[in-house]
Order: sequence, then structure tokens, then C-alpha cells
Amino acid sequence: SMMVAFALGALTDLWADFMRAAGAAERVFELIDRKPAIPSEGGERLASVQGRVEFQQVRFAYPTRPDVPVLQGIDLKLDAGEVVAIVGPSGAGKSTIAGLLARMYDPQGGSVVLDGRPLGALDPEWLRQQIGTVAQEPMLFATSISDNIRYGRMDATDAEVEAAARAANAHEFISRFPEGYHTLVGERGVQLSGGQKQRIAIARAVLKNPRLLVLDEATSALDAESEHLVQEALDRLMKGRSTIIIAHRLSTVIGADRVLVLEGGKVVQSGNHAALMGQDGLYRRLVERQFVAA
Ligand code: ADP
Ligand code: MG
Repeated sequence: SMMVAFALGALTDLWADFMRAAGAAERVFELIDRKPAIPSEGGERLASVQGRVEFQQVRFAYPTRPDVPVLQGIDLKLDAGEVVAIVGPSGAGKSTIAGLLARMYDPQGGSVVLDGRPLGALDPEWLRQQIGTVAQEPMLFATSISDNIRYGRMDATDAEVEAAARAANAHEFISRFPEGYHTLVGERGVQLSGGQKQRIAIARAVLKNPRLLVLDEATSALDAESEHLVQEALDRLMKGRSTIIIAHRLSTVIGADRVLVLEGGKVVQSGNHAALMGQDGLYRRLVERQFVAA
């Protein structure tokens, strides 16, 4: 299979801003939830979620910098089960879109809609249960591997934790530790590689079983084996779920139903890979200059 390394480092400040926005979502939400602007609960809980997402002319500035427009009229449509990739230079607003989907903030204009309901009408806590996030450098807690996975759904049985780990291509490396699933991670435990951490985060998301996924792809150098195992696990996780990928790899962008090219808080191009390559625009320049096929 074609190995595509996508050297988009220049275009991203991935980890830091993903932490600010969508990544480590649960931990961040604890902080966000204390803000009175977004109540932590109350509102509708839909009986079932299909996973249709729509951004309609969304305008947004961060409360700390109200004079700096970050999203300037974003339209985005994600049908149930679709994959939309967002690409664009650092600071374009990609992570902010992910943050608004999880309702970390409310837009100042336009609306974000899930299955036809504006997010403001939905219970935020419930909403966040419907969204799984996998960040490039996932947050792990200084506890056992098993607890780290179970964080996706606290009442999961050991068998369910293991099934999730298998689906995430994590079971094998976990089993190789003498303590297996009881192995402690973090400062006083084992050091996991980036690819292993990602597979733990994927297992967590498998267990959570959300209708919506937000992925921030790895740009860090995963070794080829890890990259393959992570990609395979992600492909499995994405099946049947609506997925927004902040994409850094050409292979993902090619496979997406739609690509949004974001620049300066505006969608400057959208379409599939082939259509965008046919246009003389930012997308083709990104591909030519930044995607490195090896
Ligand atoms: P991208 O993910 O495309 O790199 P972001 O959505 O992280 O872009 O950021 C878009 C803009 O918003 C940038 O100018 C960034 O500096 C700013 N920004 C991001 N997060 C915050 C924040 N929490 N407070 C204030 N400004 C922010
Ligand atoms: Mg970002």
C-alpha cells in the first residue's frame, strides 16, 4: 500500500490548540462546564441520534478576543455516516469548528444543528456523550490501562474493555505487559509510544460508541507499523459514524466524502479531492507543497 507521509507540521499547531478546543475533551469540558455561559446540563436529550450535523453561517470570536473574528460565516454539512475532512493553514479555525460542535462555546451568529435541533436546545452533557474525540497526543490518566479505556464508559465490564482494545488494535501490546490491563501508565507506570496512546484513546472511543467522531490526525512521526495499526483501528471506529477529521494525511483527504478548505475563518473551497485538484486554489497548493508522498 502507498505510504503517504503528510508533512503538514508547518500548517499546524496541532496539540496545543486541539487541547484548547476539541482534544482531551472530557477534561476540558470540566473546566468549560464551570463557565455560566454554557450550562452543564438541562435541555433536550434526543432518543436516538442519526448524526446529521449542520453549521449554518456560523460566526464566532473567542470571548477573550471579541474583536477578532475567528469563524466568519461557516457552512458545513455532515450527513449521517459521512466523513468530512477539514484542511487549512494553522490558525484557520479548524479546531474551533470542532470546539463549537461540542458546544464548548456558542456562536455569535448562525447556528450549529444536530439532527435538526440547534445545539442550544440540547443538554450539553448529553451532547458530549454523543461525540468521541481522538487527538494526536491523547490524554492518558496516571492509572491502569484498563481504567483509561473504561473512561469511555464507566460501567463497561472487563470483557467489554478487552473487546474495545481488540477493535483498537491495542490488545496485543497490552497483553505483552506483565501486568496486562492492570499496567499503570504515566509517570510511575510504563511509557507508551504515541501510537500506543492513540490506540488506547481509540479503544476509549470504541467503548463510548458515539454517533459523532472528531479526529485530529497524527502528524507526529508514528513508525510505519504503528501508523498502519492506528489507521486500521480508526477506519474500524469510523464505520457508520459521522466523522469530522482535521486532516493531515493525503490518504484521509482522498477518502473523505467532502473536504473543506479553511482559511482565515472562511471556507474557501469545498468538494472531494478530485474536484479540488481540478481547481487552481489553496487546496492544490497545499497538496503540492505540503503533502509529501513517499
Ligand atoms: P486551527 O485549528 O485551524 O489551527 P484554531 O481554531 O485553533 O485554528 O484557531 C483559530 C484562531 O483562533 C487563531 O487565530 C487562534 O489563535 C485563535 N484561538 C484559538 N483558540 C483560542 C482561545 N481559546 N482564545 C482566543 N483565541 C483563540
Ligand atoms: Mg487546530
